[in-house]
Amino acid sequence: MKFNNIDFDNYFKTYPDAKGFYGRFGGSFVPEDLQKAIDEITDAYLTICKSAKFIDELRRIRREFQGRPTPISHLQRLSDSIGKVQLYAKREDLNHTGAHKLNHCMGEVLLAKYMGKKKVIAETGAGQHGVALATAAAYFGLECEIYMGAVDIKKQAPNVARMKVLGARVVEVTDGLATLKEAVDAAFSAYLGDYKNTMYCIGSVVGPHPFPMMVRDFQSVVGIEAREQFLQMTGELPDAVVACVGGGSNAMGLFSGFLNDPVKIIGVEPLGRGKKLGDNAASLTYGSEGVMHGFNSIMLKDKNGDPAPVYSVASGLDYPSTGPEHSFLKEIGRVNYDVIDDAASIDAFYKLSRLEGIIPALESSHAIAYAMQLAKSMEHGSILVNLSGRGDKDIDYVIERFGVPEV
Ligand SMILES: *Cc1c(COP(=O)(O)O)cnc(C)c1O
Repeated sequence: MKFNNIDFDNYFKTYPDAKGFYGRFGGSFVPEDLQKAIDEITDAYLTICKSAKFIDELRRIRREFQGRPTPISHLQRLSDSIGKVQLYAKREDLNHTGAHKLNHCMGEVLLAKYMGKKKVIAETGAGQHGVALATAAAYFGLECEIYMGAVDIKKQAPNVARMKVLGARVVEVTDGLATLKEAVDAAFSAYLGDYKNTMYCIGSVVGPHPFPMMVRDFQSVVGIEAREQFLQMTGELPDAVVACVGGGSNAMGLFSGFLNDPVKIIGVEPLGRGKKLGDNAASLTYGSEGVMHGFNSIMLKDKNGDPAPVYSVASGLDYPSTGPEHSFLKEIGRVNYDVIDDAASIDAFYKLSRLEGIIPALESSHAIAYAMQLAKSMEHGSILVNLSGRGDKDIDYVIERFGVPEV
């Protein structure tokens, strides 16, 4: 399929280019010594990802450990409550650990094992990436070190406990504001100090090349499965596919299965409390071009051009930039991006729970809320949503802050 002069038949062979660019987005903007370490990961990945042994092992792990393929569920009662349009969910909440993040963590740690590394390192904000990586490290028997801001450690006690139970070492970062940004810096410097034995594992389709490409490739299993399952269930393709966008990994996973199809694709960003800078994390919608965390993309900046403080009720979505491939797909018009605020996502959280018996993560609730709106605006057809994770982690917070609506 051709779209805006881009040949989508060969899309994955063309993007990213050898330097990690999707159009002018992406690349690798890091200090020279760090670049050397990262080049080693790129070279290893490009070789190992083609080996039959690696592919077979990853397939077996997905089947026997993660419980893949995850099903697609027809959301019959939710659809009926809106009108004629049929809603479907790709159930990444049923992937082991309850979210899509394990898809790329298992790939990254398997790669680390093939590279002969002894240890994996990462930062984590809300702790979801830390838990997924600690799970993968436990499975493969590699050491795991997670850098986390002191402020986040206090806020996210259950995830800190999970990481420790899984055998990871949680390193408290007390510099600066003691949140995600400082944790990223601390994790990178720890990696640099020991990169012979260590592999750095990123939590989304962000960071310097090759991470956006590698994480997309590992997540593409979601879109490949979903396309085949949807065809089998309904005999056709969905009219639209929808996913929430934080860094953008669950969205790239689903979207990559449908880029070359006549299917509308929509990424949903968190509008939080509103349009004002600091009240949302809708980077593609309100941001501008810039470099942060080693890559060029669209980001939310403060007055000095630094990453702005961001907010969303869903802690997995509050990141001031987005993966470079999303910036590219937005610019060429292949994917549309829109926003959903806190209130609409809380409403969707309860609707899906009560009409379908599925409690969604607050991140995924943004995608569900958007799909419900879209369904209202269509006469007929079908929409497939990526249900990126389950909402058990959010229940206490939702009840405390928003209460439980009467039945
Ligand atoms: C982390 C997370 C997200 C956001 O990350 P992406 O990289 O944008 O997918 C979305 N949903 C869930 C359940 C998450 O844990």
